[in-house]
This record gives sequence, structure tokens and C-alpha cells, in this order.
Amino acid sequence: MTSTSLLMIPGPIEISDAVHRAAGARPVSHLDPVFKEHFGEVLRGLRSVFLAGEGYRSFVVAGGGTFAMESAAVNLVDPGHTVLVVNTGLFGDRMAEMLRRRGANVLQVGAAVGEAVPVDEVAEALREHRPRAVFATHVDTSTGVRLDVEGVARVAREQGVLSVFDGVCAAAAEVFRMEAWGADVYYCASQKAIGMPAGLALWVVSPRAMRAREALGSLPPLVMDWAAWEPIVRAYEEGRNAYFSTPPTTLIPALRVALGELVEEGMERVFERHARVASRMRAAFRAMGLRMLSQAPANTLTAMYWPDGVDGAAALGAIRARGVVVAGGLHPSCAAATFRVGHMGVVTRDERALVRTVRAVGEGLSDVGASVDVEAALRAFEGV
Ligand SMILES: *Cc1c(COP(=O)(O)O)cnc(C)c1O
Repeated sequence: MTSTSLLMIPGPIEISDAVHRAAGARPVSHLDPVFKEHFGEVLRGLRSVFLAGEGYRSFVVAGGGTFAMESAAVNLVDPGHTVLVVNTGLFGDRMAEMLRRRGANVLQVGAAVGEAVPVDEVAEALREHRPRAVFATHVDTSTGVRLDVEGVARVAREQGVLSVFDGVCAAAAEVFRMEAWGADVYYCASQKAIGMPAGLALWVVSPRAMRAREALGSLPPLVMDWAAWEPIVRAYEEGRNAYFSTPPTTLIPALRVALGELVEEGMERVFERHARVASRMRAAFRAMGLRMLSQAPANTLTAMYWPDGVDGAAALGAIRARGVVVAGGLHPSCAAATFRVGHMGVVTRDERALVRTVRAVGEGLSDVGASVDVEAALRAFEGV
């Protein structure tokens, strides 16, 4: 972490020195034998991070989380299909829009801003409407709400409905057991808890969802067609060459390092580390008197209201002047009234970075006239 200001937004996040070094390498050919080996390792490593077995197919494609979202929408759903969106914020709205553009009949279950949708309500909607697939956001970055993805995957299985989860702000931080939970699609982007620069869309697909793609009546756009990418990723996993569209040959070796760090630590410890840091950060923010936006708080970020009378833009600037970059609000219903602090990836192993964040938020708020007890917040963070 060499940048002068510490990046504590919900992506892009700080990256490890090893990932930074790998991402700075000179470009190689996509047919280079070492690249081929690295790409194969990445595809296997992604399954390990999502806790999915060998029958599942990994994809890594140039793009972002939004690209991965749309690929799921167009590979599983034909025009005219009924689908259910479990909407806990802005990214639920975005997925619903993508599915509408695909021509689907889009039904939604939602909750008040900041609240999760109970699994019972999802189960009831599935029974009533018998959709082709359910789409849900594991952690919605606009509200900080975490959904009970295990429960949603279970009721989807029971009803024979495909389950698709947006893990962009959750994967590699929140507990997720793809195969044990029976989830069909999980996707994310490189710049969040995976711990990479932006630039890659990553997703894993169950055998059942791959069959659903094969049975599709209306072909997806070629660039996001799983059937176009499948022979490519299969070839790289088997150590063969293949070409469809040039893979990002500097990002993929860096991703190998990032996934390697996660696999080496072990996913259970990664999940536990994020849970512990989230509760310490929230204890500090509560001790500052800040009110939480999310009633079902995630481990990857905290979304909060600014104290009464504080100008959000001025406060963001004051916190930045203290050396830490945090994010403004994102949900349209409360964007100006809220802000968000990301706590995922390498910073969760760095006590000094976390203390620096608590201090910068507290002092920045004081700078713009809020009455905040920074020392009490630091004591709460330390668990005193
Ligand atoms: C960031 C994010 C996205 C979009 O990812 P981009 O890489 O910005 O396209 C989608 N869903 C969630 C939950 C996110 O946090």
C-alpha cells in the first residue's frame, strides 16, 4: 500500500504489494506457455474461492461487475420468461432493468431501504409465480444490506428455480458455499474483495445453469455468450491454446496472485477476518454516534447517515484531507444523507490502516462541526 491516501471505498480497494507487482508486468502473448498455465490456475482458483467443485465452470473475462450481471441475464433467460428479482438496493434495480431489456416478465420482491428481504417472502413468490430464475444481490453496495443467500438458494432449489447471486461486493469476504448451498451462478468483479485492480468480470456456473444456457431459444450477444467462452476457458484449464477474444494478459497473472493469497490463507479464515473487522469498525462508528443505514449489515462495507447538520460533500473532503478516501451515498433515496466505508481485502489485515480510517472519519467529522469523540471510537474499535 504505497499510495498516500488510503482507499476505503467499496471498490476499487487497496491491493497487496505482490498483486501490485504482478499487475505491473510487461504484456505477454495470450498463447505464451506460462500465461496458459497461469490462466488455468486462475480458473481453478476461482472455484476454490467460491467453494465450488470441478463440475462447475469458471469464467474470467475483461469487463466489470456490470458485464457479469448482464451475462447472467442473457444466458439464462429467454424473452417471455418470468423471473424474480430480490431487490435490496440499486443493483437489484439494475438487474431488473437488464432482464426487462432481455424481454423477460420481471417480478420483484423488495423491502424498505436498509432492510433485507426475508427468505419466506422469496419462497412464497417462487411458489406463486414459478419463475425461470431468481436473481438476488448478496451485498447491495448502495444500502450495505446483506441477504440470506444460503436461504434463497435453498428455497430456489426446492422449487426447481435457477438461483443467480450478485457477489460483486461480497465474494472473497462474505461466507459463500456455492456447491453446498446449491447456488447456480455467482459473479463478481476484480476490484472488490478479490483484491485486484478493476478490469475483470469473474463468474462460476453450475452444471444445471450451463444446461439452461444450452436450452435457450434466443441466443445472447456473442461477446457475453457462455457457450462462446466455454471452449476457451475449458482449453486453458486443460493447458491448451484457444482464441475467441484476447484475454487481459497482464491482469490474469495478477489475479492468479490475488486468488493464491486467498486460497493459501483458507476461505474460512478469510470469512472470519472480514466478520471480525466489520464488527470492530461498526463499534467505532456507533461510538461516534453514527446511525446505520443497513438493518442487515454486511461485512464488506458500512453505510451510515451523516450526523445531523453535516454537509456530506464537505465531510467527504475533510476525511480525504485526513488521508482516507471514503465514499458518498449511492442509493437514490438517501444518497446525500449517507456515506459508506469499505472494509474488505488487504486492509482487513492491516491494523494501522483500520485505526487510521477510524481516526480520519472521526476527525474529519469534527472538522466540519460534528461533535464526535474520536478517542471513544478508537476504544470501541479496540474492544475496550
Ligand atoms: C460494484 C458493484 C457492481 C458493478 O460492478 P462494476 O465493476 O462497477 O460494473 C454490481 N453489483 C454490486 C453489488 C456491486 O457492488
